[in-house]
Amino acid sequence: MVLFDKMTKRLKDPIRAGGEGIKTWDVAIIGSGPAGLTAAIYATRGAASTIVLAGEAWGGQLMLTTIVDNYPALPGISGPELMQKMRDHALKFGAELVAENLTAVDFSKLPFKLTTNKQKLTSKSVIIATGAQTLWLGVPGEDKLRGRGVSSCAPCDAPFFKGKKVAVIGGGDSAMEEALVLTKYANSVTVIHRRSEFRASAIMQKKVFEEKKIKVVWDSIVEEFLGEDKLQRIRIRNIKEGESKEIEFDGVFITIGYTPSTEIFEGQVELDEKGYIVRNSKLRSEISKLGEYRMSTTVPGVFVAGDVHDYHYRQAITAAGFGCMAAMDALRYLEGP
Ligand code: NAP
Repeated sequence: MVLFDKMTKRLKDPIRAGGEGIKTWDVAIIGSGPAGLTAAIYATRGAASTIVLAGEAWGGQLMLTTIVDNYPALPGISGPELMQKMRDHALKFGAELVAENLTAVDFSKLPFKLTTNKQKLTSKSVIIATGAQTLWLGVPGEDKLRGRGVSSCAPCDAPFFKGKKVAVIGGGDSAMEEALVLTKYANSVTVIHRRSEFRASAIMQKKVFEEKKIKVVWDSIVEEFLGEDKLQRIRIRNIKEGESKEIEFDGVFITIGYTPSTEIFEGQVELDEKGYIVRNSKLRSEISKLGEYRMSTTVPGVFVAGDVHDYHYRQAITAAGFGCMAAMDALRYLEGP
């Protein structure tokens, strides 16, 4: 907590960001998770004046994660500590971080205009790294037991359930993938789905049905997660029979989808049918003689990084990698064609 207060205080330090007409930034980064902060490190090291609109609740999903065991060279680090290290790293090279929420953008012409809850600013390039939110069930016990047996990331937390009994909630590709990852550690994996067929692709379903450790409970919804200090039981209800029962589990993985944080960009850059930002490969080659801008959006000069465009990998390390790529693209874009 002390650590967090210190971080919050530093983020509230005087803002040197120039308002409209005072200063145009080279790079404005929206979002302060691994993608945004890695982009800030690369942009500032590339001598670009860089502002990070970190949001009032800065740091992204890792601020809600207890132990991160899969970030290279930092096994066992806590999510908030990892983010503090990234943030300090970005500050060290001169990035400006402001704890402000973006309220509007105008990418129709250069310089791009960004409005926060406290100021207006302009920038020659933008990196969107606003991430995606895990969808949670919203049932009793979920908040209390999050990080205590209730998780949303099997690649992150599966090793904590070696030899244990776990459940996966959902019926899409993510649920299948998480269930398969979990079989490498857990003794038994139960997929609990609200319908009598999965939404997942045929190939993923086949893998799940062929895996002996996995069993499926159909037509069932979660009513409550039970346990004091850690998850002990899940109460589920069969919606066809109307009966509820409690089953013992050591862990549960909620994989019912994600929602990208892109509302504010609607009408500004292209989004796919699920709201994820679309990368535009055609445009890249048109606007640069120096090669591709792999992280370009449909608007030249506006780039994207992390979970806000990537629903496939969703890892801190891949988000950081995308942040690096977006910043390198932005730096090349600023050099001109
Ligand atoms: P998704 O396809 O939207 O599936 C979400 C699942 O959660 C559905 O089965 C849905 O049930 C269930 N669900 C939603 N809300 C629920 C609630 N309140 N209570 C209980 N169950 C609920 O999401 P996703 O699996 O994260 O996949 C997202 C996208 O990423 C998809 O396009 C997917 O193909 C892609 N993806 C691909 C791979 C891969 O190719 N290896 C891996 C992961 C993701 P219903 O079916 O009843 O609606």
